[in-house]
Amino acid sequence: MAYKSHKITLRPTDAQKVWFSQQCGYARFAYNAALADFKDGLKADDFRSFIDLNNRFNQAKKAFDWTKGMDQRAALYAVRNLSEGIQRWKDKLNGFPKFKKRGSRKSYTTDEQSVRVEGKRIKLPKIGWIRMFQELRFQGEIIRVTISRTAHRWFVSIIVDAGTPNTPRDMRGLPVIGVDVGINSLATLDNGTQYENPRPLKRYERKLKREQRKLSRKVFLSNNWYKQKRRVERLHYRIACIRNDAHHKTTTEIVNCARAVGIETLKVTNLLKNQNLAKALSDSALGNFLEKLKTKAEVLGIPIVQAPQFFASSKTCSDCGEKKKDLTLADRQYQCDSCGFIEDRDVNAAINLRNLAVGQTEN
Ligand SMILES: [Zn+2]
Repeated sequence: MAYKSHKITLRPTDAQKVWFSQQCGYARFAYNAALADFKDGLKADDFRSFIDLNNRFNQAKKAFDWTKGMDQRAALYAVRNLSEGIQRWKDKLNGFPKFKKRGSRKSYTTDEQSVRVEGKRIKLPKIGWIRMFQELRFQGEIIRVTISRTAHRWFVSIIVDAGTPNTPRDMRGLPVIGVDVGINSLATLDNGTQYENPRPLKRYERKLKREQRKLSRKVFLSNNWYKQKRRVERLHYRIACIRNDAHHKTTTEIVNCARAVGIETLKVTNLLKNQNLAKALSDSALGNFLEKLKTKAEVLGIPIVQAPQFFASSKTCSDCGEKKKDLTLADRQYQCDSCGFIEDRDVNAAINLRNLAVGQTEN
């Protein structure tokens, strides 16, 4: 049993957005009602467990006609969430639960049998099919889903029981792949395949600066300031999306055609001294990229071999093993002084990482 979670941006219609808001409101209502009930119980010296709180809420809600049309699981999960908060308070891990205010983060959880995912859409209780921007990455039984809102977007987090991989892929025919990550190209494979680095911040840098300058000229907290602030936030969000998309596409392609993967351990500290390089590095988010690669490999049951920190993947000749001392970042070609081997710098590094992975996964 392995629970995996995938958060996907939704593409709801206006009516669906209203429904989501209502369910979030219902969850908050249930949470606050149960919390008030619990406090009353404390005063009356009558401890109420989760089951009590939930039963009492189910009775109390009958006085509110509008709750009938709602997704009842949203309330159940809200009360359960409160109970967990109460338990943490009793265990002295947390303060006493607080009431949820109107402006607090919007979310609700549901798990009805009717939840289904087909391609880029998800079926939710009562409201039906909602379009998603992506397909669900994992296969298996859907355990529960949480709908939430961040900035101006609605998301769904789907928790799937991916199980023990019951249909292991036949990977015998697939190669072991070495992956070198970098700024010039996001990923280079030992077979020479290169994936472009989108560097979205670089692309949007001027626009972002312009919009930020505009923001600084607005009257703080005025309507126009808020409007402009949203514009800046949306731009940041778009930048993150472009980067994220590229990372997902590339990592999926790599794990789908490998039996094992060799990667490096990032050593960025000495590169961060160079300001241009530091900017490019943060724009590439290579650490995130490697994390995604590891997660996906783990789901598919593919071994990932991460080179030790001082493994010289770039400086070592992948043909004869000789180490080059004078390789600089500007050298795009690796040329071995010892055996005369010539290869693209990144491909040479990827071959070294592959060889390391081969050595550790096949005996
Ligand atoms: Zn050599």
